Amino acid sequence: MKTFVYNGQPARVIFGSGTISTLPEEVERMGLQRVLVLATPPQEADAFRLAKSIGERAAGVYAKATMHTPVSVTEDAMRVVAELNVDGLVAVGGGSTTGLAKAIALRTDLPQIVAPTTYAGSEMTPILGETKDGAKITQTSPKVLPEVVIYDVELTMTLPAAMSGTSGMNAIAHAVEALYARESNPVVSLMAKEAIGALADSLPVIALRPQDPEARWKALYGAWLCGICLGSVGMALHHKLCHTLGGTFDLPHAETHTIVLPHALAYNAPAIPTVIDNLRAVLKADPAMALYDLAGQIGAKRALSDIGMPQSGIDIATDRALANPYWNPRALEREPIRELIARAYAGEPPQ
Ligand code: NAD
Repeated sequence: MKTFVYNGQPARVIFGSGTISTLPEEVERMGLQRVLVLATPPQEADAFRLAKSIGERAAGVYAKATMHTPVSVTEDAMRVVAELNVDGLVAVGGGSTTGLAKAIALRTDLPQIVAPTTYAGSEMTPILGETKDGAKITQTSPKVLPEVVIYDVELTMTLPAAMSGTSGMNAIAHAVEALYARESNPVVSLMAKEAIGALADSLPVIALRPQDPEARWKALYGAWLCGICLGSVGMALHHKLCHTLGGTFDLPHAETHTIVLPHALAYNAPAIPTVIDNLRAVLKADPAMALYDLAGQIGAKRALSDIGMPQSGIDIATDRALANPYWNPRALEREPIRELIARAYAGEPPQ
């Protein structure tokens, strides 16, 4: 019998449809008087709407969050935080906006209320990745974990079908790797299986009918659980590969995860027979093939060559994937890893 450690991450979660209406109450409950509402430029209108709903307790809106949390943007936002004498943060958006809230919280310890609008799951993790001078630095600190998360299915309705699919696959990747993480444990595995099932069911429906309320509910529920998985245990080959590929060739985050996941799972499969059995029970087919097919069903690209990776990148990525040793259930072997990357590059089925 296995001894295990389960690290629960403290957060108050409000989940449902229309739940963003609880934001003013939550701000009041936390005793906040001057909150700054954060968003990306395309979601600025949402940020102003939320600021209006908060009334006098809203100090302002900062809608310049961008992908990969550049330190320059955080420093600009920090000036606004100081000028407006902000005492709390509200983030409405995907992982980029949550990243900005976390980066400010790291520097100020300000409390955060996050309303996620994608399936990335950052709101459930104590992890922050920041970029400076082209380099990404990832750190883990309880300071960056949001205090309150308001999941409102309505906020995800506008997420375009294509982005919903890849964002959901990105979430599935967190749960898949949690099943075979070094720190895997029965509680996280329960959540992972539930989450993968919920997303595998709902993503094809969303691809056909992006406004389907039940599918949206299920996908957001799955994404929440996937976020807990990511925040609770360490990730392995798949996440490291995506990090390397994304950083080296500037590839889009969720699309890269979608393409690599079936191949990374196929690589690890011989070392994790029980996990493969569990996944087969959830996905009703060979798990790696099922994930490759799911990517097809949601209309996602399945070749790294289609999202900007050059062919010469296969060897570069292989070298980099092997350069910094990290834990993985199967030892990292050069030729099979190169083969994995080459197949993902060409969009071939996993093997
Ligand atoms: P994102 O936050 O960059 O959003 C992508 C685009 O979609 C943005 O322009 C955004 O405004 C728009 N958008 C988001 N939700 C929308 C909606 N409901 N309707 C219409 N448009 C919407 O994308 P993401 O995939 O959520 O986040 C990716 C970032 O998050 C990456 O930088 C990644 O590294 C980070 N991330 C961090 C963690 C962590 O634990 N630290 C976890 C997952 C992802």
